[in-house]
Amino acid sequence: MKNTFGIDIIPENELQRLEVLKRYKILDTPPEDAFNNIARLATQIFNVPISLISLVDSEEVFFKANVGMGNTKSTSRGISLCSLALLDPEVTVFENAPKEPCLLTNPLVAGEFGLKFYAGAPLITHDGFLIGTMCIVDKITKEFTLKDREILKGLAAIVMDEIELRLSAIGVEQDKEMLRMATDAAKLGTWHLDIKANEFIPSPRLKQLFGYGHDEIMSYEAALNAIPQEYREDVKMAIELTTNNGSKYDIEHPVNDVKNNKLRWIKAIGKLYNSASGEPSHFSGALWDITERKQDENRKNDFIAMVSHELKTPLTSLKGYIQMLQLKANDDVFIVNALSKANNQINKMHKMIQGFLDVSRFEAGKIHIDIQTFQIKELIDEAVDELGTIMHRPNIISHTCEDFLISGDKNKLGQVVNNLLSNAIKYSPKSTTIEITCKQVNDLVQVGIKDEGMGIKASDMEKLFDRFYRVESDNTRSIAGFGVGLYLCSEIIKRHHGKLWVESEYGKGSTFYFTLPLI
Ligand code: ADP
Repeated sequence: MKNTFGIDIIPENELQRLEVLKRYKILDTPPEDAFNNIARLATQIFNVPISLISLVDSEEVFFKANVGMGNTKSTSRGISLCSLALLDPEVTVFENAPKEPCLLTNPLVAGEFGLKFYAGAPLITHDGFLIGTMCIVDKITKEFTLKDREILKGLAAIVMDEIELRLSAIGVEQDKEMLRMATDAAKLGTWHLDIKANEFIPSPRLKQLFGYGHDEIMSYEAALNAIPQEYREDVKMAIELTTNNGSKYDIEHPVNDVKNNKLRWIKAIGKLYNSASGEPSHFSGALWDITERKQDENRKNDFIAMVSHELKTPLTSLKGYIQMLQLKANDDVFIVNALSKANNQINKMHKMIQGFLDVSRFEAGKIHIDIQTFQIKELIDEAVDELGTIMHRPNIISHTCEDFLISGDKNKLGQVVNNLLSNAIKYSPKSTTIEITCKQVNDLVQVGIKDEGMGIKASDMEKLFDRFYRVESDNTRSIAGFGVGLYLCSEIIKRHHGKLWVESEYGKGSTFYFTLPLI
């Protein structure tokens, strides 16, 4: 580069500055209306024939917008006056250029072009780098007031905003493209449900999963109808919860592909998105085929169900024999004790096997919910009486559970209270208190079972309700269990349209809560 100015035109932070300039991916790109319009506006405001939006690269000055200079796309950095404007964060003005010592040998000024007036405001990035200018040029001398400088600076700020905006738009486009590639690779179907316009747009892959051809129209109703009836209500409710309350959509259900006579299992996750004004605007998400996984799970469940069932028969007869022996062994204290212990062990085993059977039934959707109306207090009193005595825990307090009438499966909900209470007992020292509370929250009753036990780490909390999940630690290793209890509790509560969750501080204690709709 031949420097015609006789002064150093390379700023101190040049290397970093060039890197920042590259970040905007704007060098050597075609003209764009947004920039042309600003340049045109500048010529009108200042009544000049030439206006340029320039970006100063290492050797060249590139014009992103050019009004009045024909097809010129760039010029050498050693000639362009923008190289000088780049050195000062304020506006650089030459009202009478031929009189400026540093422009004496500049070909634009001294040569045929005859430049007489130049004003350039630098384009300053949000992190303070000067990457180019918004400048105006005339072939006659001109006065440029302070007010004019302010206006030119304002235009430069608008140009810079446009450059930043353009970059984020490029980013969004790139993200979209990446997402498209990932979606294709993972064979994900996607949908977009416009809430106001009530418009449903399924992707071709989604249509395929529902048994539709790429160019066939598939309505929202058709999508719902493809879901077998016994799952349809659950799906509708999950969609409602997402679109009305913004809850996360995360569901597994089968889909009937009638055309290919196939039942496909899919997993779908989605979210409610808001418009810029904060109003719910659309419900979108992705879904994929999980048929193979479901088939594996079904095989496993069938196996567990079969084994559990087969184990129950010999266990029942073993229990019978022990009871008979107990009747015959009245006098011998050792035998009576030993048989009572054997009986307890058999009861434990029976409970575990029952747990497995319940899991496989839930998984297969074969659990029947037997609805009746009752006070939640009845369940709590029963569980406290039974467990408090058996497990020698007198310190169980429950005093706020009056008058909450609910409807549900009393046995199964009893199982939930029992499980949560027996966990509270199992996982806390004998001398500590366990408190059971009930309170109304809107149209729900919220039950809390609070212990002062070992507590749960945050990393374990979200997995606690998964099937067969047990916390691995020295404290829990010695406590019997298979990690099915909480899974069953959460399934039972879900079927009653309630919620089960835990709040806990590691080392201090936990509170398990569940809610149920009040009548
Ligand atoms: P388990 O039969 O192993 O008790 P659960 O599903 O009932 O199975 O519980 C899963 C795991 O959650 C337990 O192994 C235990 O680590 C943890 N947990 C449950 N309740 C409590 C509690 N009240 N305090 C601390 N940890 C608990």
